[in-house]
Amino acid sequence: MTKISIGGKLYSKNYELFEIFGKVYDFIEVLIEPDFNINALVDAVSLAKKPITIHCAHQHFGFNPGNTKKFQITKKLLDNAILAAEKFNSPTIIVHPGFEEDTISSQQLKNNTIEFFKNCFDKRLVIENCPYYKTFELTKYSLSTPKDFSDIKKAVPLKLALDFSHAISSANCQAKPPVSFIEEFIKLKPCLFHLSGIEMDSQKDSHNHLFLVKNKFEYLNLIKDIQNIPPITLETKYSSPIEYHQKDIEILRKLLNQEQKKI
Ligand SMILES: [Zn+2]
Repeated sequence: MTKISIGGKLYSKNYELFEIFGKVYDFIEVLIEPDFNINALVDAVSLAKKPITIHCAHQHFGFNPGNTKKFQITKKLLDNAILAAEKFNSPTIIVHPGFEEDTISSQQLKNNTIEFFKNCFDKRLVIENCPYYKTFELTKYSLSTPKDFSDIKKAVPLKLALDFSHAISSANCQAKPPVSFIEEFIKLKPCLFHLSGIEMDSQKDSHNHLFLVKNKFEYLNLIKDIQNIPPITLETKYSSPIEYHQKDIEILRKLLNQEQKKI
């Protein structure tokens, strides 16, 4: 089995954390904020000495490919992410799907998302499954279920990033068994995973550390035997002590039957 690549997630302005993340993680996934400073980021990344994967700014920054009224801001945020991907040679640019706002119907939401990515297509684009909240601030995304991804993929050749916590919360909000829901997503051949600590009955993701939640992460058995397991980004609280990150990496390698890498 080839060695699994485990990444840590940072924001583009966490300059002071790149060096230490570079010491424990195999790669760093960077979310490009709207007002990011490319030169300062280049300096920080040079201290990390690890490959960079780019995550486009998401809904909290105004990104919504599902709402035609948000085209300009969404396109601008995507252009920033493309610029950063060029600079750091990132093979992937992770984007979020559209979400429900301004009373758009769910079919319209999906159609708009497809149209946006057809117009702004880039072969590095990887779309991430998001939750399906019934009770929280955001109600529905255009990619919350395996079927949503199949529909999108038929129209525009985006790759899939499977966020396990989002899948669990989506399954629970729809009263579906989370493990088989994840299994359906895995059949769609994701090229990257997002992982964080969550309880199996949770309706909301919390970006907790793996060792701080009650979960045996048995769903990781579903990927254990894949010949080349896609990279896994740990989306935990970046500001935690570095030992917390090391502990998560150790747990993850054990769960996937991998030897602990010497640090
Ligand atoms: Zn994301």
